[in-house]
Amino acid sequence: MLDWFADEAACLSYLEQLRWPLGFVCPRCGDTSEPYRSSRDRLMCRACRHQCTVTAGTVFDKTRTPLRTWLAAAWYVTNQKYGVSALGLQRVLGLGSYQTSWTMLHRFRRAMVRAGRERLKGNVEVDESYVGMRDSRKLLSGAKLKSHTARSLVAIAVEVQEPKGFGRIRLRRIPVDSERYLLSFVRDAIEPGAKVHTDGSAAYRSLSEHEYVHERSVHSASDGPAHVSMPGVHRVASLLKRWLLGTHQGAVQPSQLDYYLDEFTFRFNRRTSRSRGLLFYRLLEQAVATQPVTYQRIIDRKT
Ligand SMILES: [Zn+2]
Repeated sequence: MLDWFADEAACLSYLEQLRWPLGFVCPRCGDTSEPYRSSRDRLMCRACRHQCTVTAGTVFDKTRTPLRTWLAAAWYVTNQKYGVSALGLQRVLGLGSYQTSWTMLHRFRRAMVRAGRERLKGNVEVDESYVGMRDSRKLLSGAKLKSHTARSLVAIAVEVQEPKGFGRIRLRRIPVDSERYLLSFVRDAIEPGAKVHTDGSAAYRSLSEHEYVHERSVHSASDGPAHVSMPGVHRVASLLKRWLLGTHQGAVQPSQLDYYLDEFTFRFNRRTSRSRGLLFYRLLEQAVATQPVTYQRIIDRKT
């Protein structure tokens, strides 16, 4: 991989082609003439003289980490079936700081969700599930650092295919399983007209008023376990829990769970991609179209 990207110039020209596949477009005035180049990465629009860089306004904006390291990280992230933890990435790339590794992974996670992506269609199962995370904040009771498990509620939607198999998924952390949160999740995640399969919860009672074909399974104590009637949701919930505890060792803070849900969704929805190289390309393509997020903004995020 690093042979393709022998130096910073090679990385920059690769990112420039991804960002402007049909040639430079001025971010300010939209002019498409070939820009002036005052240095390797500094471009100036011929029409309005606006100056920009290839990485400005992308997840690589103002980074002090070499682009070669970024691209190596993207390669590693997309080539590991289950992804990589910040500690694992730090080790494999020989990064000086854990924070650098952690921030890179978070910036990539931001790029894993495409704005304006299509909603789910067809037959869709919807349910909620608790996922556990280790909450490693220090307890007031003593100097010893104890960890306990925090739980977050996640809404899950899964396309169910005929005769069998699952399509795409959507996930969202919600504070409680009330109609307010579940209805807005369904409306954001699923195309009207779809058949939505839920349990008997009252939170879903108005789905048919919102142009969904609503199918409810009401369980009683004598029925089988929930996964018999909701195989998709059950499968995704158990894979998600295993991934959080395995790859990330449960070290995800509840306030940052959303970013991990984005990564899980990105991987799940592309799990059949034949070529890992395509995944690498997609991630970088979205990375140059995604606004940067700073370390401070990630850790300041409130629960
Ligand atoms: Zn311009």
